[in-house]
Amino acid sequence: MTARAEIVVDLDAVRHNVRLLSDLVEPAGLMVVVKADGYGHGMVPVGRAAREAGADWLGVATLDEALALRAAGDEGRLLCWLAVPGENYAAALAGDVDVTAYTLAELDEIAAAVTDRAARVQLKVDTGLSRGGATVADWPGLVARARELEGAGTIAVTGIWSHIACSDDPDHPANEAQEAVFREALAVAEEAGLDPEVTHLANSAGAILRPSSRFGLVRCGLAAYGLDPAPGQPDTSALGLRPAMSARATLALSKPIHAGAGVSYGHTWVAEHDTTVGLVPAGYGDGVPRHASNRAEVWISGRRRPLRGRVCMDQVVVDLDGELPAPGTDVVLFGSGDDGEPTAQEWAEACETISYEIVTRIGGRFAHRYV
Ligand code: PLP
Repeated sequence: MTARAEIVVDLDAVRHNVRLLSDLVEPAGLMVVVKADGYGHGMVPVGRAAREAGADWLGVATLDEALALRAAGDEGRLLCWLAVPGENYAAALAGDVDVTAYTLAELDEIAAAVTDRAARVQLKVDTGLSRGGATVADWPGLVARARELEGAGTIAVTGIWSHIACSDDPDHPANEAQEAVFREALAVAEEAGLDPEVTHLANSAGAILRPSSRFGLVRCGLAAYGLDPAPGQPDTSALGLRPAMSARATLALSKPIHAGAGVSYGHTWVAEHDTTVGLVPAGYGDGVPRHASNRAEVWISGRRRPLRGRVCMDQVVVDLDGELPAPGTDVVLFGSGDDGEPTAQEWAEACETISYEIVTRIGGRFAHRYV
């Protein structure tokens, strides 16, 4: 029987997706991105499954995430990329974590933390996302300083990388433009004498849809969890990715309501005729988007059941259309879709968001179970 509310993660599906992506991008390597608690799937178990399936690197945003992986026993190559001033680079060094530098100030902070062995540093250039990374104008200066520190044995430049803005739209001109800027940045670095182990630009959609963006390594998050990083693009849907997460709950109550009864706060849905409703014990306190109110569906007893009225903090009401499944019956909020249940992608469309947000935010009081 399903717990009150639980996230079930199929680690075999993660392994399958990682192997599939690895084979697809070869000879490029694969970094599996496990930040934000493995996109809500559980960073440590997912990281372990990814390593078992041959991931060359794991990637996270924060140093704390990287150190949590180390504390859990992960020993492979590991990159983090979102530092703030005062970052604990000594801990990164002690944990053998590759850190990312965008600025001269960050390089100096990293250098100041070095004692006995060189810090592993990857340099990030902003090729057009206008987010993290050195501007093209600052890039030669960053590269020159990195080379100096490398010459002094203070750092080792292990990678050079950037991030794409429009990878889910492979024909968008920004893709070619970013690849060109990246190639130019690599040439500047080579000219300065840097010879990094890895160069990387692509996320899941780039890795799948634009072989020219693969360089030496790709960083895949969403696709490793089996979700489609570019819905509507045939190449991604045809790949055979298997969604790893299903969000499930136990039906708490089912009961009749009369025509004219308003449902949940604000009575945003009113029964047109006598019917039955069910209570699902999961709400926005658990990451069920309030925007799913009157939009998303769940799966109960072999049928899709629409959410009625507003999502509450701890619970949602669903339309049982005259049926009265017993309390204790399994509810699937979303899953692989194999049995007809809604998918995270369908929830994303219902909530006018992306599947990244659906899986990353679901959690709260849900238990996690790994199969
Ligand atoms: N690289 C970086 C820097 C990211 O921030 C992310 C995720 O947002 C990824 C790679 C993975 O992206 P995706 O989940 O689309 O594969």
